[in-house]
Amino acid sequence: RLIAPDASEPLEERFDRAIRPKTLADYIGQPVVCEQMNIFVSAARMRSEPLDHTLIFGPPGLGKTTLANILANEMGVSLKTTSGPVLEKAGDLAALMTNLDAGDVLFIDEIHRLSSNIEEILYPAMEDYQLDIMIGEGPAARSIKLDLPPFTLVGATTRAGLLTSPLRDRFGIVQRLEFYGVNDLTTIVSRSAEILGMQLDRDGAYEIALRSRGTPRIANRLLRRVRDYAEVKSDGRVSKEIADQALNMLNVDGIGFDHLDRRLLLMMIERFGGGPVGVDSLAAAISEERGTIEDVLEPYLIQQGFIIRTPRGRVVTNHAYRHFGLPMPKSDDD
Ligand code: ADP
Repeated sequence: RLIAPDASEPLEERFDRAIRPKTLADYIGQPVVCEQMNIFVSAARMRSEPLDHTLIFGPPGLGKTTLANILANEMGVSLKTTSGPVLEKAGDLAALMTNLDAGDVLFIDEIHRLSSNIEEILYPAMEDYQLDIMIGEGPAARSIKLDLPPFTLVGATTRAGLLTSPLRDRFGIVQRLEFYGVNDLTTIVSRSAEILGMQLDRDGAYEIALRSRGTPRIANRLLRRVRDYAEVKSDGRVSKEIADQALNMLNVDGIGFDHLDRRLLLMMIERFGGGPVGVDSLAAAISEERGTIEDVLEPYLIQQGFIIRTPRGRVVTNHAYRHFGLPMPKSDDD
């Protein structure tokens, strides 16, 4: 999937590092999050305390990892990164936490995927900076307690509802990232183009922004593909026309849907009569994982008003029929 927000390759990582904003001032959009985090960071710094534990949630590619890095940077501390599925044993987490310096940020991506035994180790660590682990097995097993330096846990998750409530309750700060508007995305691609030394017209940037599913990672990825196209097909300068041609070639339609979005919507319309249809049936029908539908595809389609969620399943709206130029079913009220 060309514009899937999670594929990664080394070249892309390099590109990513170059354009990733490093300060809150460079973090474009998300005004509420930025204003609040500015205050919380300043206050923590004034008191010489670590920043409170922070939970960031939002669909993939909206800037959770970027924000975690910025918070560490603004606090003047280091960041250590791990992720929920990677932490298998209590010892893995213990090793990470005992290596932290005072004030450091421990970033756990996909924190909803922590196993429950690891989650339980996190509770006292978050509350009292205490590590409480069992060593050995059977009758010889004993628990040891270690003091940890004060630290900040930054957790990222795609959906808040996936977290257990004891874990969620231990975060003092909870931030939700929203899909980006076209103007913010235009600024993001223009900034990236400048860093890459690309010639990108404002109209060209706007065209890419329009078709990026509200997601900075997709905007930056499309920018790279448009750059390839512009270099091969013309003199490298990206105008609206060039951006439009390149994106059409990439099968990204006028509102940024790629083939998977279209497939999902058309499947709902053609196979399931517009719904309601359960997410598992949909996943089977388009041969994708349920999680891909819930985390990657659906949030944007819901935000754009193409799908609604009902207790009986997902339903496509008239908006979707109109988008595909298909006749609307008579009984549907949008
Ligand atoms: P997530 O962790 O939510 O999946 P990332 O933090 O990895 O997303 O962000 C994806 C890409 O989008 C990064 O390359 C980053 O440069 C860019 N990006 C994200 N948020 C912003 C922002 N607010 N301003 C500018 N660029 C951003």
